This record gives sequence, C-alpha cells and structure tokens, in this order.
Amino acid sequence: SACFKGRVALVSGAASGIGRATAQILSRRGAAVCVADLDADGAQRVAAELVEAGGSALAVAMDVSTEAGNVDVVEQVMQKFGRLDVVHLNAGILSVGSLLETDLATWQRVLDVNLTAVFLGIKHTAPLLAVQGGSIVVTASFAGREGSYGMSSYVASKHGVTGLVKAAASELGPMGVRVNAVCPGPIYTDMMITAGSLDEVNASPVARTTMLERVGEAREVAELVCFLASDAASFITGAIHAVDGGMPVI
Ligand code: NAD
Repeated sequence: SACFKGRVALVSGAASGIGRATAQILSRRGAAVCVADLDADGAQRVAAELVEAGGSALAVAMDVSTEAGNVDVVEQVMQKFGRLDVVHLNAGILSVGSLLETDLATWQRVLDVNLTAVFLGIKHTAPLLAVQGGSIVVTASFAGREGSYGMSSYVASKHGVTGLVKAAASELGPMGVRVNAVCPGPIYTDMMITAGSLDEVNASPVARTTMLERVGEAREVAELVCFLASDAASFITGAIHAVDGGMPVI
C-alpha cells in the first residue's frame, strides 16, 4: 500500500502521540515526511526512526504559533524535497482548570497554539499544495464539537479549529486543496493520559466515556488522517470527522 509514493508530507507535533503515528504511517506508505515539533530532540528522534525504517525524513524544530516558524518550515521542506502534498496540522496543548480561574496568558497561549497556528499553517502551506493539488488535515477534538468540562480555553480553541476548517475548505477547494478536521476522543498519548499503562487506563472511568468502553490509540487516529490525506478521499473536504469510539452525549 504505497499510496503516498513520491509525495511529501509535513506533520506538526510529530515528536509524540498522534502526530508521530501519522508520520510513521505516511512514511511506511511511501511519503517523505517533515517531522516538525517544538521538541527539537523529539523531532530528531522520530525522523531518525523513519529513516531507520527505510523512509525519507527531515526534522524541523518550530513553534507552530509563530509566523517565522511557519515560513521557515515550508522553506526547509521545499529546499529538501521540492514539493508539498500533505499537511497534518496536529500540534496542540491542553490546559485544565475552571474558567473563572483561567488567567489571560494561559487562555492566549492555548488559542495561539491550537487555533492561530492552524490559520498560519494553512496560510503558508496552501499555495504550495495548490501547485499540484493537496490535502490538509487538522487535529481538532471531541471538544471541537461538544463542550467538555473544565477546559474552556481548549474547547473554544478546538471549536475555532472546526469552524476554520470549514471556512478554509470553501476558499481552497477551487484551488484543488482539500481541508478536513479529525475529532479524536480520549486517546492514549502524553497529552491526555499520563497515569498508568493502556490496560490500567482502560479499566478507569475515562474508558467508559466511549461506546467501545476503552480509550483510543494514536494509530487509530492516524489511520483516519492518512485516509483523508490520500487520493482515496478525493471528494471529501470541509468536513469534521469523529474518531472517538462513539461518544454519547448524556
Ligand atoms: P502529545 O502531547 O503526545 O503530542 C503533542 C505534540 O505537539 C508534542 O510533541 C508537543 O511537543 C507538540 N507541540 C506542543 N506545542 C507546540 C508548539 N507550539 N509548536 C510545535 N509543536 C508543539 O499529544 P497528542 O494527544 O498526540 O496531541 C495531538 C493533537 O491531538 C493535539 O492537537 C490535541 O489537542 C489533539 N487531541 C488529543 C486527544 C487525546 O486524547 N490525546 C484528544 C483530542 C484531540
């Protein structure tokens, strides 16, 4: 299944979790992958993993919330690979706490990293994707579709992301660029779940928030991202896709 042979992908937040899983699948299926992350060592590690497995990879240290970082990463991709086909805007941060106790700096940082970075990512990659046609997939969240208790800045940022995806898809469609969002439920990564093994987490209350009564794994989100990024999804754009084991609203 080398459906990304000859293609070039950029994945943000690729040092860990969902981004790393996407980078691995894209690479296995033939794409050259730019592993971008704030964590420079982590990005280097993942790029080295991909190369060791026979892939082609480039590590870039960047803060997705800065315009300079977005300009630089695109320059580095073009210099090394000469084209860009797939973009997974995935980096994100979670902040937990009551709305009334959230300070402005925390609110602003969550909005910058989770939402403004998606604006910058789309703005700086779409012109290159439009050259031959391409696909942008953004990691939103269940919290981009429904409210979630005790994380108001995160919920607001992810609702912003799903709105931005719909708006961007309408402008970029005529340029041959598709834009979709994936909305993961609870996924076993560093961000959400730090306490215990996967089995322990699946025995805990968070697992019972899904219809499948377990949390998801990063690769289960990455499979959807890679489908949306591929030519198999050629008529899918401007859509918000759940990948959450079924989350009943009660
Ligand atoms: P993770 O913490 O394992 O990975 C996130 C990565 O993003 C890290 O490598 C981190 O260094 C990087 N990052 C953070 N801020 C950055 C910045 N300013 N610039 C560049 N890189 C930055 O978490 P994950 O669960 O894999 O999260 C990936 C995405 O999935 C996020 O957008 C998150 O909101 C979303 N998500 C996660 C879950 C979950 O349950 N894990 C659920 C819904 C949505």
